[in-house]
Amino acid sequence: MPRKYIFVTGGVVSSLGKGIASASIGKILESMGLKVTLQKCDPYINVDPGTMNPYQHGEVYVTQDGAETDLDLGHYERFTSCLTAQANNMTTGQVYDSVIRKERRGDYLGATVQVVPHITNEIKERIRAVGRGKRLDVVITEIGGTVGDIESLPYLEAIRQMRFEVGRKNAINIHLTLVPYIKAAAELKTKPTQHSVGRLREIGIQPDILLCRTEKPLSKRAKAKISLFCNVEEEAVIEARDVRSIYEVPLMLKEQGLDRLITRLLNLRRPAADLKDWKKNVVQRALRPKRSVRVAVVGKYMELQDAYKSIYEALNHAGIANDVRVEVKKVDAVEIEEKSADKLLSGMDGILIPGGFGDRGIEGKIASARFAREKQIPYFGICLGMQIATVEFARNVCNLKGANSTEFNKETAHPVISLLEEQKKVKDLGGTMRLGAYACKIKRGTRTHKAYEKDRISERHRHRYEFNNEYRKLFAQHGMVVSGHSPNGQLVEIMELENHPWFVAGQFHPEFQSKPDACHPLFRGFVTASLENGQHRKKEEAAHAESPAGT
Ligand code: GLN
Repeated sequence: MPRKYIFVTGGVVSSLGKGIASASIGKILESMGLKVTLQKCDPYINVDPGTMNPYQHGEVYVTQDGAETDLDLGHYERFTSCLTAQANNMTTGQVYDSVIRKERRGDYLGATVQVVPHITNEIKERIRAVGRGKRLDVVITEIGGTVGDIESLPYLEAIRQMRFEVGRKNAINIHLTLVPYIKAAAELKTKPTQHSVGRLREIGIQPDILLCRTEKPLSKRAKAKISLFCNVEEEAVIEARDVRSIYEVPLMLKEQGLDRLITRLLNLRRPAADLKDWKKNVVQRALRPKRSVRVAVVGKYMELQDAYKSIYEALNHAGIANDVRVEVKKVDAVEIEEKSADKLLSGMDGILIPGGFGDRGIEGKIASARFAREKQIPYFGICLGMQIATVEFARNVCNLKGANSTEFNKETAHPVISLLEEQKKVKDLGGTMRLGAYACKIKRGTRTHKAYEKDRISERHRHRYEFNNEYRKLFAQHGMVVSGHSPNGQLVEIMELENHPWFVAGQFHPEFQSKPDACHPLFRGFVTASLENGQHRKKEEAAHAESPAGT
């Protein structure tokens, strides 16, 4: 069978959830026994999002091969079993970079180098190259941005050409669009969808399937109208209603026959999608948890949904695994500096400090780690969150006055976190951190080992600074032990506190490997510990309330 292609585009507005829609299509196809991979095209000129501010871009998702990529790749890995890599994310910056390099090498033999065909050929080549050499049935390529943007034109032209080249039976276009509800008229409006499909047709792409984002049910009449004016058969006008959990999306799309539609259009002979396990083990558990637990995430970009996307998702997965609703309180570290940890973190069952860069809010995070350590509240430190825990411990337990990471104070007398020699030489900011998957050995008898139940693991990194080995002994003497280290023993990867219910901090990003039906062990362990802490606290409060005053 030739490789099949599904191109996912978006219209009307951004933020319609194209990434989740693409991931859901991947999930549906996988459940039919098809081998899939997903790819994202980003029309910006940055080579990768690694150097972009989270306000601009949201989270940077790190693949096992160390690529800094778009957060949609996180959805792809969470919904499907596809393991993404650098090739699963292309940006206009990368495309131009490689075309210009080829031009300098003389590869174009004197031709004038142009958007068409040189840039479009490079894009097509990269779509074909994803998963090359692997047995793959379907490649799902999502085009970032919205139809009508100047920047995404080369991508749309490339997929137009590709559909022509591989044939209509081997490539389809699924267009995600918005059908807004106008309250005053009490009506759903189909015009924006008609316009956006019109724009696609102008450049030669006739969508095969429309996914219509809507708050209200799409009536048969509205579907018929969209179908007639957009040249899309009625059965292929699919309602994509707002749902309670993103993990419901594959179920919703399958219920409307998206599986049958895709197999028919792409000539794939397959049985219907089977999402029973997904429904039982993920969706139902996500929607109806028995208990709840309160966890504070102390960071810098709290008003932004996307800055800590994988962390929030991994917490949801831990909720699914523990049958609890994880209520996240997003706490701005700067606010902790202005008020106090006590004020903002009291009543929390667990505290998590995620990764980060730059010194804004650092002291607030240090105060949060101290609060968690002293009040025996479960603490989970991730990357910067591990470094913070280290600095706090050095200052307040080991009595190392002014201890710090050299990222925040180059002159500190106690650089408990510092740069390795090889990082000191680095000049470029882009792509030069310690990136991607590294093996780690876990020490038996630790909480970390209890969570992983393994002696050796592999986790993804994205940082420059490391724990300074000169302090290992002193830390251990005071009760902070190394529970995970690099195979050669040189790099401290995980630390934990001995006299604490659950205080674990890792130099890597476990959130990138968590899945709704396979929660990351450390997230599961953290939420279990938080739950126990919450129950313990409630019992104590109840006992307190029952005992007569003065006794
Ligand atoms: N800024 C820290 C470093 O570069 C931590 C990075 C992170 O949390 N991802 O080491």
